[in-house]
Amino acid sequence: MRREIDYALARRATLRDYERGVVNRLDLCDAHPELVRAGRHLGEPTDDECPICRTAGLKRVLYVYGDALKAANGRPLMGADELERLRQRHDEFACYVVEVCLDCHWNYLLRTFLVGRRHAG
Ligand SMILES: [Zn+2]
Repeated sequence: MRREIDYALARRATLRDYERGVVNRLDLCDAHPELVRAGRHLGEPTDDECPICRTAGLKRVLYVYGDALKAANGRPLMGADELERLRQRHDEFACYVVEVCLDCHWNYLLRTFLVGRRHAG
């Protein structure tokens, strides 16, 4: 896995496909109920508007993955403090940043990156 992957280009291509009618709204606005819940309760609010329904305040949810994380593996983080705690305790784990619209359930993986003691500094 590369240290960081940004999916902004893929996101733009997806939205172009939507505008051209290649993909429909149901294909894009299919957030899992767990993701919507995480967005509502744990998501970081943004100033961005939803690219599909134009509602303001897309949420960003951070998921962490790594065998060493044990209970935290694969679940959404509570916030920046928890990320910092995990970062100090583990050599390496992966973070997935997902945006989700609480209104129409648009969702997209924005970025993945590796963090941990091995990546300090
Ligand atoms: Zn929306």
